[in-house]
Amino acid sequence: MKATIAVLPGDGIGPEVVAKSTELLSAIADKHGHEFTFVEGLIGGIAIDERGDPLPAETVAICEKADAILLGAVGGPKWSDPTATVQPERGLLGLRQHFGLFANLRPVKTYPALVEHAPLRAELLQDVDILFVRELVSGIYFGDRQEQGDGDSAFDTMTYQRAEVEQVANVAFRAAQGRRKKLCSVDKANVLASMRLWRRAVVDVRAEYDDVELEHLLVDAATMHLLTRPNSFDVILAGNMFGDILSDEASVLAGSLGMLPSASLRADQFGLYEPVHGSAPDIAGQGKANPIGMFLSAAMLLRYSLQLEAEAGAIESAIDAALDAGLRTADIASPGEASVTTDEFAAAVISCL
Ligand code: NAD
Repeated sequence: MKATIAVLPGDGIGPEVVAKSTELLSAIADKHGHEFTFVEGLIGGIAIDERGDPLPAETVAICEKADAILLGAVGGPKWSDPTATVQPERGLLGLRQHFGLFANLRPVKTYPALVEHAPLRAELLQDVDILFVRELVSGIYFGDRQEQGDGDSAFDTMTYQRAEVEQVANVAFRAAQGRRKKLCSVDKANVLASMRLWRRAVVDVRAEYDDVELEHLLVDAATMHLLTRPNSFDVILAGNMFGDILSDEASVLAGSLGMLPSASLRADQFGLYEPVHGSAPDIAGQGKANPIGMFLSAAMLLRYSLQLEAEAGAIESAIDAALDAGLRTADIASPGEASVTTDEFAAAVISCL
């Protein structure tokens, strides 16, 4: 197949891991007879430096002509002055909003080879394989807000429309159908009116997916269950704020932030794919970045935007093989264990394809 991929490296370790993932995707294209065209654009801090705008119009135009977007990371100390008129993160939020990317998918898996690296007991981490589906463009992060007069009072508003909940719930139920057919919806229906609507809408959507087992958890209980029985979850559906908090909590299960991918999707096949981590300025330019989160994001791009399931699986298996062969970047190496560079790890994954 032919596909055009918009490539937005961004800042810090973003360009380092993005360069390796376009190499990986080119290797996949060669092996499976596809033709991928990569078109690069500016985003984040580097776009502020070069164009005075964290999301230049030319970048939006590149993305509009593409089948999917692959993004590294944005931000860094150079642009972190809170009084600055533009912040790099605006570029990312602008992209999500411009394309209406309402469903954020974050898979969290434990790797047998890395279990000793996580802070939970090994037996709790057996076979953890969770897919978070987080509502991304509504809820309390986008509601009415105000810091009032004297600075001693402020409010934020959590609003959900039934249609917004149904839209993201459909994504979660469909994902569960393709996995172990279990969905846990997280809310705070005992206290919040918006979360009672959330629960009613999820129950109604379930009528179309009666092969999927549905569980409801209050968010406070969910934080605890995530650490005491992580391997009992399949798909976890949550609103914008609860999904943000829970998926970060779950990231410790995988052993390093550098391992985790994400996809932000809308109703058609278009999506934005980026690792969960930020620009890691503390290790940028040193060849220490773990490319796994970025590689798994590229695999999600193949799976969700290009429907290339076998090719996505080939990337995931190659990463497993490189880990099983004992290769570790510094963030996942045990104390005293030798580590490899970003380039060495990437070369090993590509040769395992
Ligand atoms: P971070 O994710 O960049 O780094 C946190 C820690 O994890 C650091 O010690 C870093 O070295 C390590 N780390 C992260 N990714 C790694 C990888 N692939 N391999 C090895 N180690 C890795 O978070 P932060 O330090 O809080 O933020 C740094 C900058 O990134 C800030 O400007 C922040 O705003 C931005 N940020 C951007 C995004 C994004 O682009 N989506 C997300 C989070 C943070």
